[in-house]
Amino acid sequence: MYDLCIIGFGISGICCAKWAEKYKLKYIILEKEKDLGGCWFTKALESSTLQSPKNFYQFPDYKMPQDYPTFPNKNQILKYLKEYVRISNIKNINYNYNVLNLEYDNFWKIFVKKKNKQIKIKSRYIAICSGIYGEPNIIDLKNRNNFLGQIIHSKDLNTIKSEELKNKHITLIGNGASCMDILKYISDLSTNINVIYRKNKWYVLDSILGIYTYFYINRITVQMWNKLPHIFFIIFIGYVIKYLFLSPFEIPNKIFDHSNIIMCNKKIYNLVSLNFIKFVKDEPNYLYKNYLVLKTNKLIYSDIIILCTGYSTNISFLKSNINHNNYLHIINPQQNKCGFIGFTPSYNWVQVSYLQSRWFINYILGNIKLPEKKIMEYKINQVLNKKRKLNIPYNDLTYDCFKYCDNIQNELMIYTNKYTLSYWFQNPDYCMN
Ligand SMILES: Cc1cc2nc3c(=O)[nH]c(=O)nc-3n(C[C@H](O)[C@H](O)[C@H](O)COP(=O)(O)OP(=O)(O)OC[C@H]3O[C@@H](n4cnc5c(N)ncnc54)[C@H](O)[C@@H]3O)c2cc1C
Repeated sequence: MYDLCIIGFGISGICCAKWAEKYKLKYIILEKEKDLGGCWFTKALESSTLQSPKNFYQFPDYKMPQDYPTFPNKNQILKYLKEYVRISNIKNINYNYNVLNLEYDNFWKIFVKKKNKQIKIKSRYIAICSGIYGEPNIIDLKNRNNFLGQIIHSKDLNTIKSEELKNKHITLIGNGASCMDILKYISDLSTNINVIYRKNKWYVLDSILGIYTYFYINRITVQMWNKLPHIFFIIFIGYVIKYLFLSPFEIPNKIFDHSNIIMCNKKIYNLVSLNFIKFVKDEPNYLYKNYLVLKTNKLIYSDIIILCTGYSTNISFLKSNINHNNYLHIINPQQNKCGFIGFTPSYNWVQVSYLQSRWFINYILGNIKLPEKKIMEYKINQVLNKKRKLNIPYNDLTYDCFKYCDNIQNELMIYTNKYTLSYWFQNPDYCMN
C-alpha cells in the first residue's frame, strides 16, 4: 500500500513528486505516456515556445539555465524538466501506465492499464495531476466527406511535414493560444491564411515599450485591475491597445480571463495588420469541394483546415460526482483523500502547482487540518459567487493568483515581507525554504 499515488507526470505531477520525495512519503507515479512533460511532450509543436518569459515559468528551487533564451522552446523545456526530476531524486516513475478507474473504500484502488494487462494499485491518498487538457474538441463540420482538402486538430500538426504546408491555403478555426502558436509556425510557410473565430480576444503584444508584457503583471497592476470598474477597464485598456498600438484586432466586451487573453508576437501582429493573415469573425457552416462555407455564406478556399478548438477538461477516470470546484482548488469537500493539482490556469502555472503540491503533502502528513465540510463548501461558494459576477470560471486565477498563492503560503506558515519593492513589483518565488 502506498501513501500517495500521483496520476500524471507533467509540471503538476513533477511538483507533487518533488514534495512527496522531500517529505519521504511512499509514493508511486503513473503516467500514461512514454515520457514526462505532460502537454509539453504530447501537445506542443516542435516549434512551440513558452508564451511567458522563462522566469515566470520555473521551479522556485531550480531556475531555468542562464543560456536559455527568454522564451525557451519545447525541447529546452523538456530538458529542464528532466534535469529537475533528476536533481530532485524523484523515483518510482511508471510510464505507459494509463489510469482507467478509481474506487475508494477506506483506501484507493487504482485500476491501471499497462500495455495489454490490467493491474490494481492501492494507496491511501491520490494526487490528480492529469491536466486541464483532456481529449481534443473536434467540431462537426457538415459535408465532411465531400471536402477535397485535409482536416486535422491542432495537436496533430506535428504529423504533417512543413513542405506539405508550403504556399497552401490554410484555414484555422478558433483564435486561442494554440492558434497563435500555429500562426507563428505556418506564417513562414504560407501567406494564404484565414482564421475563423467567434469571440473577440485580448491580443497583447509579448513586449510593450521594450519590456516583456509579463513584467507588467505584478501585485500593483493586478490590484488596479481589481479596483477599476469593468466598463472603464474595457474602454481604457481597449482604447490604449487599439489606437496606441494600431491593433488590427477587435476589442472584446469582457475583462481579461485566462481564456481570452492571448500573447501575440510583433510578427503576427504586423501580418494581421497587413492583411496577410485574415481574421474573419464568423462560424463554419459546411464544406463544399475545397471550400469552407461560413454562416454568412462567405467562401474560404482551404487546402488544410486546422481545428484550434482546444480540449475538453473532463477527467475520464473520475466518477462524475467528484467535480473539481474544490476547497483552495485542491480538496473536494465530498472526498478529502484526494488532491487536485494544476487545475487553476494562471500566469504563474509552475509556482501555483508547486505551492498546491507542498500544501497537499503537508495535509497528508497531518501538518494542515481541514475545516469542516460545511465551512469548505461555504468558502467555495463565496469565491464562486464573486467570480460569477465577474463572469470568470471558478478555477481561473487571472485575477486572484497572488492572493491565492499568498493564502496557501500562509497556511504553510511561510510569510513574505511586504515592505520590499520586489514584493510589489516582481513575480514572486514561492516557498523557497
Ligand atoms: C504549447 C503549450 C504552450 C504553453 N505555454 C504556456 C506558457 O507559456 N505559460 C504557462 O503558464 N502555461 C503554458 N501552457 C499551459 C500548460 O498547460 C501548463 O503550463 C502546464 O504545463 C500544465 O501542466 P500539468 O502537469 O498540470 O498538466 P499536463 O501537462 O497536461 O500533464 C498531465 C499529465 O497527466 C497524464 N495523464 C492524463 N490522464 C492520465 C491517465 N488516465 N493516466 C495516467 N496519466 C494521465 C498526461 O499524459 C500528462 O502527462 C502551455 C501549454 C501548451 C500545450
